[in-house]
Amino acid sequence: MGHPSQPDPGEAQIARCRQCGESSGGELFCAHCGSLQRPATDYYLFFGLKRALALDTADLQRRFYELSRKLHPDRFTQKGAHERQYSLEAAAILNDGYRLLRDPLMRAEYVLKQEGFDIGEQRSKDVPPELLEEVFELNMALEELRHGDEDARGQLEEARDRFLSMRGSIDKELDTLYRRFDDTQDRAVLQQVRSVLNRRRYVRNLVNEVEKELAKEGQPAQ
Ligand SMILES: [Zn+2]
Repeated sequence: MGHPSQPDPGEAQIARCRQCGESSGGELFCAHCGSLQRPATDYYLFFGLKRALALDTADLQRRFYELSRKLHPDRFTQKGAHERQYSLEAAAILNDGYRLLRDPLMRAEYVLKQEGFDIGEQRSKDVPPELLEEVFELNMALEELRHGDEDARGQLEEARDRFLSMRGSIDKELDTLYRRFDDTQDRAVLQQVRSVLNRRRYVRNLVNEVEKELAKEGQPAQ
């Protein structure tokens, strides 16, 4: 930036430090003078991680603490305007990125989004037919409980436990798919990840709904 632009493909790859004008080495802190550079907005790049669905979260946490120390506001009070501005941007990316990357589901959704997949839409074909039958019975039991039929409570508790164990198997399935994607970088695997995530979201919503209803015990009807 700021160089008279005779496009030189070699030169264009080099990130120049705004402070000293030397090659910054592409790192968050200039390899030459140590000043803070414009932070990468990609969370994986920011944390210096290879993009992977299965992450070592202990390693991520170490990186988070190390960067938190380096980006502590006290270190920037005496710095110039650019560096102060970058430090604010970096602190926001640090916190948002850490919160997102340490969550296996949000992390997968992040990569899916980067790869151009729609996420979050409910697609009924991701829900297996045998589950739909369960859901039908579950909804009946929910209705019964809402109308004061306490017999439905036991039924709902059983259903919740079944859905919870289902969620457990889904998480194992996701873990396997994450590793497969990391090994192969195969988009077809991402497609599977999306479909399993949708199924998980569906099951999670059911569990939430049941728990909400079960928690109403002893509360006056609205
Ligand atoms: Zn520098």
